[in-house]
Amino acid sequence: MDFADPVQRRTFFAVHEGLPRQGPGSRQFTEQAFAQTSLPANAEILDVGCGPGMQTFDLARVAPAARICAVDLFIPFLQELRDRASVEAGSAQIHPVCANMAQLPFNTTSFDLIWSEGAAYTIGVSQALQLWRPLLRRQGYLVFSNAGWLTTDPPDEIQRWWAAHYSDMRDRAGALQQITEAGYTCRADFVLPPSAWWEHYYTPMQQRLDTLAHGDHGQDLHAGVLAEIQTEIDMYTAYSEHYSYRFFVLQLRGEERDDSDS
Ligand code: SAH
Repeated sequence: MDFADPVQRRTFFAVHEGLPRQGPGSRQFTEQAFAQTSLPANAEILDVGCGPGMQTFDLARVAPAARICAVDLFIPFLQELRDRASVEAGSAQIHPVCANMAQLPFNTTSFDLIWSEGAAYTIGVSQALQLWRPLLRRQGYLVFSNAGWLTTDPPDEIQRWWAAHYSDMRDRAGALQQITEAGYTCRADFVLPPSAWWEHYYTPMQQRLDTLAHGDHGQDLHAGVLAEIQTEIDMYTAYSEHYSYRFFVLQLRGEERDDSDS
């Protein structure tokens, strides 16, 4: 889809705006990943690609003395995070910032933890891991989730679909290699189950698609973009055993930071 085309862009947001999340995940798994880190109570946390902020507020709940900077490039999602802040606890800890994750406006060694659910792939995982590394303090953590293969020989149809949408799709071993090359140690990793795709993401998205297909919304939507989004859900329905999101809990390798300090 082409974001430069106003009709395609409007259609994308007509489907995505107001969904509880913009990628697979849930409070249970945000908490499970966070539990693998060891941080000071008053940690400085950066949530990159925060979207509407479900995981931002979940982090605020498990780290009530932390300060969380929540970054996204798209104003409509940041506005949803701000709206959520007016009704949910944790808002005093959360500081929304509109910025590009490829050029984050923060000083080096500013954060104890960088968090990024379902977002790092937009600039490439390797690039994200490398670009964000200087922002971490000594032995800091980077936790991210990303799509990857679960099986060694997925059917052609789903391989082709992913090749067209995300050409750097890897299996666990491939992702761990990327992580090591970028100077981190993987402390833990786990796969998100189908419930984490459906509950806050594909089920509300399917409802939105059905509503848009049947209602008169007084705006032209792009049929091709609606079909593309429907296909994404249909692919997951058909092939969910072959891929999922995986969380990775990384720690900056001590010697890497020592090298750059000296
Ligand atoms: N973490 C959220 C959103 C994931 S979707 C969740 O799990 O629900 C990916 C998010 O990254 C979107 O909100 C999108 O607006 C944001 N994004 C995409 N490219 C970006 C960039 N270059 N810089 C900052 N944010 C970006």
